[in-house]
Amino acid sequence: MTQVFNFSAGPAMMPQAVLKTAQAELLNWQNQGTSVMEVSHRGKYFMELIAQADKDLRHLFKVPDNYKILFLQGGARGQFAAVPMNLIGAKGKALYLNSGHWSAMAAKEARNFCEIDEISIAEKDENGVIGVTRTDFSDIADQYDYVHYCTNETITGVQIKEVPNVGDAVLVADMSSDIMSKQIDISKFGLIYAGAQKNLGPAGITLVIVREDLIGHARRATPSIWNYEVQANADSMINTPPTFAWYLCSLVFRHMLAEGGIDVYTRRNATKAELLYNFLDQSKFYRNYIAKPNRSVMNVTFTTDNDELNMKFVAEATAAGLHALKGHKVLGGMRASLYNAMPIEGVQALIEFMKKFEAENA
Ligand code: PMP
Repeated sequence: MTQVFNFSAGPAMMPQAVLKTAQAELLNWQNQGTSVMEVSHRGKYFMELIAQADKDLRHLFKVPDNYKILFLQGGARGQFAAVPMNLIGAKGKALYLNSGHWSAMAAKEARNFCEIDEISIAEKDENGVIGVTRTDFSDIADQYDYVHYCTNETITGVQIKEVPNVGDAVLVADMSSDIMSKQIDISKFGLIYAGAQKNLGPAGITLVIVREDLIGHARRATPSIWNYEVQANADSMINTPPTFAWYLCSLVFRHMLAEGGIDVYTRRNATKAELLYNFLDQSKFYRNYIAKPNRSVMNVTFTTDNDELNMKFVAEATAAGLHALKGHKVLGGMRASLYNAMPIEGVQALIEFMKKFEAENA
């Protein structure tokens, strides 16, 4: 079989080494004679696994001691609802920054639970290029219980690289598609959440990192599974957790530590994205429509500006072992997701294919 590179936006590529470990341990985990997915989540070995995962993640991502790490279910969309249920307080209102599809979806869901103000912060210029127009909200943020934004819009490939200024207000971030791709100053955030299925592990588990003083204020009608206080007091096990997904995340953290930590990935990710954007910029055949300061390091979108050619591109790329390059249905075109697990060889292979396709079709 030809080598396959999987550019899927999520569920996405996992590190090969992690899959091999999981394969080797599948039938006999911790010498228990069973797989990890067949043991009690409250048993000694699984409790050790989650304690180690917490420790490794804290170390890797420099999570301060006054933050709790929760592993929940319901995906990032579950958090679209859980955040207002838990964080709306005395001010009764939240501010949502709209930079594209996912931040808009978060705002839409939040409206079911509280009053919100929504500000559009991404605009298209006369050439169709999308850029982020505003990141300072310090003049208005104190009216709100929290300010929500999405660090990386997975569909368009718009990444907000500087942390918005919200003064002393609580900043909440959906980091589903760029979490742990670079070190951030977690103390600037009240709460961070991310579905695991891009940089952390498989689908089915959702990471929440929340400052302790924000826990314990959920409205009464909050379901226990999404009540941060209830979950924090129960080791994220108010119900049976997705144990196999949690295990795979723990292997990803261990693997990242063994590779040298987040900074190693940041450098690799920058190299991969730079290679592809530089190639796009010199080409007259392909185009990326994102303003340079907001070009995502994780999701690189491009198009030939011709739907038929785009379809041909995706079909031929798939046949050449370059999978899942079709852009999201709301945008069309192509998208190459270059998450932490994508090796540089994948990007090189993609560029070689793009050159060949251009020569044959320009
Ligand atoms: N936010 C972002 C930035 C995403 O990319 C996605 C999924 N692609 C979601 C939220 C929704 O995540 P989930 O499917 O885990 O609910």
